[in-house]
Amino acid sequence: MKKHVVPVSEIGRARRVAAPERAVPATGVLLDRLSRPLTDLRISVTDRCNFRCSYCMPKEVFDKDYQYLPHSALLSFEEITRLARIFATHGVHKIRLTGGEPLLRKNLEVLVEQLAAIRTPQGAPLDLTLTTNGSLLARKAEALKAAGLNRVTVSLDGLDDTVFRSMNDVDFPVAQVLAGIDAAHAAGLGPIKVNMVVKRGTNEQEILPMVRRFRGTGVVLRFIEYMDVGATNGWRMDEVLPSAEVVARIAEEFPLAPLEASAPGETAQRWAYRDGGGEIGVISSVTQAFCHDCSRARLSTEGKLYLCLFASSGHDLRPLLRGDADDAQITSAIGHIWQGRSDRYSELRALRGPDTDAAAPRRVEMSYIGG
Ligand code: SF4
Repeated sequence: MKKHVVPVSEIGRARRVAAPERAVPATGVLLDRLSRPLTDLRISVTDRCNFRCSYCMPKEVFDKDYQYLPHSALLSFEEITRLARIFATHGVHKIRLTGGEPLLRKNLEVLVEQLAAIRTPQGAPLDLTLTTNGSLLARKAEALKAAGLNRVTVSLDGLDDTVFRSMNDVDFPVAQVLAGIDAAHAAGLGPIKVNMVVKRGTNEQEILPMVRRFRGTGVVLRFIEYMDVGATNGWRMDEVLPSAEVVARIAEEFPLAPLEASAPGETAQRWAYRDGGGEIGVISSVTQAFCHDCSRARLSTEGKLYLCLFASSGHDLRPLLRGDADDAQITSAIGHIWQGRSDRYSELRALRGPDTDAAAPRRVEMSYIGG
């Protein structure tokens, strides 16, 4: 495949945010143009990863010559914590740490400790969670738990090493990821979720082996439809296996019953095993869009705020953070940004079909803002 270099500036296009004239004080509830509250913040703490999942960070693009962000460009733990505290005053009560691979960021437990000290306007601690490829989890689980992390989600796209490699393009044993899941369990970082991206023709044969492996263990297995995120994964609709088909395949062997969403804005549709063996979930951004109650914002590792996973530009908060803006001004800036939000890419994709217009602004890379 032709080499396709993507400069960082292209990956994370964003407009520079200035201190707004009109104040938007925090009230604990911040609604966008579609009346969706901001409750869930995903924070990318690094643009690096030790895997090369073809649907997120294809090796042909993110190769050995790829220029990552210099450390000075990354938000410090103190800057991230300051922003998180401000987001909490607007109603954010759940923070998910992502990457790249977040456990590659040194001393991440220091950040977790700082975030664990934050309280919502109601005085409650935040729900702190993290998405990881599990490669370093066995080593880090206990320290993360001790620092205040509540839960983890582990990405695992198969149990067979060859299939696993065909999805993440590195030579990493599944056994080590499973050891990470066991360590997280032992450390009390549950309920643990395991996310499997399903790509038709590549790893669909792993659906039932994964079900048999995690059924009855307390781990919640979720199947994610392969998505047209970013502009580098060569996405094709015929490689999407619709969630309805995934559920049907599982139900043939393990009868299922639908479950209610456990919280507003939940991305997964939940199904229980009729025999009490636990539950699974499906995340169907392509065939069953869920933008109507999407309450998620994403912060890149260098402080750019994105309002949708499929956004093509963001809002650069770093100049405010590193300038002389006070918390009230940053609070207002975030207020303005969210109040102006009307993103609903997946719904529009369902109405209009995938965006194949070459002239369309390129979408931000998922490895840059976290899934
Ligand atoms: S496509 Fe965008 S708006 Fe829709 S659910 Fe995903 S992140 Fe939210």
